[in-house]
Amino acid sequence: MSEFCDVALPVPLDIVFTYGIPEEMQPVIGGRVLVPFRQQRMSGVVTDLHERKPKVQTKNLIRVLDPAPVLDEQLIRLGRWIADYYLAPIGEVFRTMLPLGAEFKRAIGYRITEEGQLALHLAGMSGSSARSQKTPEDQLAEFRVLDYLAERDMTREESVRTATRVSKTILNGMVRKKWIIREDLSEARDAARTVKVAVLKSVEGQLNANQQTLIDTLAAAGGKVPVEALQSLEVPRSTLATLVKRGAVGMLDEPAEFTMSKLKARPHLFDFQFNSAQQAALKNIQEHVDAGKFAGMLLHGITGSGKTAIYLAAMRAVLEAGRSAILLVPEIGLTPAVAADLHQLFGEEVAILHSGLSDKERAEQWHRIKRGDARMVVGTRSAVFAPVSDLALVIVDEEQDPSYKQEEMPRYHARDVAVMRAKMANAVVVLGSATPSLESYFNAKKNKYALLELPDRVEKRPLPEVEIIDMRQEFQETGSEQVISRKLAEEIKERLERKEQVMVLLNRRGYSPVVLCRACGKTLECKNCAIAMTHHKRSHRMECHYCGYTAPVPKACIHCGSEYVYFLGTGSEKLEELLHGMFPQARIGRLDRDTVRGREDFERALNALDEGELDLLVGTQMIAKGHDIHGVTLVGVVGADMALGFPDFRAAERTFQLLTQVAGRAGRGQTPGKVVLQTYFPDHYAVQYAAQHDFAGFYDKELRFRSWMHYPPYSALANVLVRSNKLDEALRWSGILGKWFEKTRHEGIRVLGPAVAPILRLKQDYRYHFVVKSASRSKLNGLLRSMLAYAAEQKIPRTQMIVDVDAIWLM
Ligand SMILES: [Zn+2]
Ligand SMILES: [Zn+2]
Repeated sequence: MSEFCDVALPVPLDIVFTYGIPEEMQPVIGGRVLVPFRQQRMSGVVTDLHERKPKVQTKNLIRVLDPAPVLDEQLIRLGRWIADYYLAPIGEVFRTMLPLGAEFKRAIGYRITEEGQLALHLAGMSGSSARSQKTPEDQLAEFRVLDYLAERDMTREESVRTATRVSKTILNGMVRKKWIIREDLSEARDAARTVKVAVLKSVEGQLNANQQTLIDTLAAAGGKVPVEALQSLEVPRSTLATLVKRGAVGMLDEPAEFTMSKLKARPHLFDFQFNSAQQAALKNIQEHVDAGKFAGMLLHGITGSGKTAIYLAAMRAVLEAGRSAILLVPEIGLTPAVAADLHQLFGEEVAILHSGLSDKERAEQWHRIKRGDARMVVGTRSAVFAPVSDLALVIVDEEQDPSYKQEEMPRYHARDVAVMRAKMANAVVVLGSATPSLESYFNAKKNKYALLELPDRVEKRPLPEVEIIDMRQEFQETGSEQVISRKLAEEIKERLERKEQVMVLLNRRGYSPVVLCRACGKTLECKNCAIAMTHHKRSHRMECHYCGYTAPVPKACIHCGSEYVYFLGTGSEKLEELLHGMFPQARIGRLDRDTVRGREDFERALNALDEGELDLLVGTQMIAKGHDIHGVTLVGVVGADMALGFPDFRAAERTFQLLTQVAGRAGRGQTPGKVVLQTYFPDHYAVQYAAQHDFAGFYDKELRFRSWMHYPPYSALANVLVRSNKLDEALRWSGILGKWFEKTRHEGIRVLGPAVAPILRLKQDYRYHFVVKSASRSKLNGLLRSMLAYAAEQKIPRTQMIVDVDAIWLM
């Protein structure tokens, strides 16, 4: 028996904590325990059991939460790898990997102290006058609490606050005065949810009509029915009890079944009629899966080439072999229709994990997977941690999608974690995309991944013709700034007359992105961020797209009071209005974060287009994502090149990907498609190559640029950001780190900074950053580690520093 255990707790510290194990407890590595930590209770994961007595006094475990590991040995290894690679505290990593927060109930309690009793007593002695109207309101409130607690033991915060109507601030003040003691009463909830199930046993003797109905129902359902379901039968409740008493029916507690979504199945079945390129790709994947060794593959298929069918066929083969597969999809890709398809194909064997699940539903899904009830897992980013056993295949669809990168601690990239997980499990990983990331394409070119190409659209449909409109020239010829060029207007008109459909992309939501004062030249900025606020016309407000802060629409300049305020620029809301004006007969819909609240809204808009209820769909990048609507023959790009003006080395790659994706929406049916691409950067290679559908050309050019600038994939890169709501503090800290980087100059490492972050102020924090690059990943990792240690010595709080390894945004 071990005396001690090490526990990883979800706190921003890169260490584990040692606790004593009371005799009656048996914690396991990979299982959770409840422990005292500072003034709280916390649940953490056991990482080691041992006899090494620590130098400091240890506390004991409060409770063992899992009798068996919830993280198996492979997932623990994966967690350690993430903690090391992304410099994230191991406890935070494990918390991210285990979506079981719903099983832990936070609670706080209070108890009166001797000092508190004394204060109450003294107040009573000095007569009622001391507690009379002269006493300030806060003091009265304090005595209400003391009065209430004097009669009681440890009492939960909710009860105290309901009974005495005091604020949290007052309770905090009383704790500081030591009149009351606060204790954490958090407890684990019963993890496994169960339902009562009636089971048919042996029926002997006569049955009355009611009893017969019940027995027949049980028999028809295969002998086992949840009690709740039996209650819908028209028999008295006592009937079941009688049958149980007679021994004809037994009762069992069974794990609660996953409630299946009530979505109707889509009429079409999967068309597993593959063309030869699809067949070759599928065969290649299957051969590697059968070999039972790690293999990485990049499936590069142009838009409309039928990648999804390959994923599903490969997964079905894995299921038939009795093994497990995980399919990762970008946030917006998991629509209810996709879910319905998956249910149709995999039945009860599929678990779907998306951001719309409640904590409790997520935990339920997790348990289903852990039990082995669901071996096909489909989900967004964190599904990469699904506790499947015997993993054979991991697929990452749209592997370049930025939603795979978690923008909070731990800042992992699910695609890269998927590759590592497959490696540890001797499984196959397939990265799929029409526009692979430069990193993945580079790996394929270097033969780290096998490259599978799908060069043709299904049924040999042609790619759309792309016409570039130079908006600078348009300005010269028309004498004013145009939102919709003459050419695009003409093409839209033609399509509408032919009863064909049109999509128009403007990758900026809202009505006007800038409010400018003509008198003083200032813009209206967010009070939390150094960012112009966007005017939203329909909701009558100004909104910051970075922190969500809203303000009323100004009638006069807030800086100088002038009434000459102008609303400049065009967002998707204004574009929709403009198009309504130009084509009053057309039925126009809009798809952006203001019109789409959930996945259902997204799907509803696309369905309306698919079913011909809309002629024209306006939207942000959302309309570019992989859906398949056959009636669209024209795609207009009004604004997608704004990013080319950003100081971010991935701007060209992102623009190329967005243009390629949106162009891919045109001409997916019988009629060939066309794209009209308006741009202020007509000569930029990202625009040129996208217009020519020339992937290889773009990658070659972009790789040369990256190589020259020592950017990924030619180096490992990290963004180190220091933030504080006090400007001088942010400056001082970044200065300290700047000096340290200079002093410790490491060979083969480049450090740029400290520099003002492209967005100086965000969510009330001032921000300075460093970009650190090295051809050697281990050197980079080592440097960042010593930097964090130095920062800790210098008392720079860990929470005020962001270390973003493989950062995808440098803003
Ligand atoms: Zn002004
Ligand atoms: Zn803001």
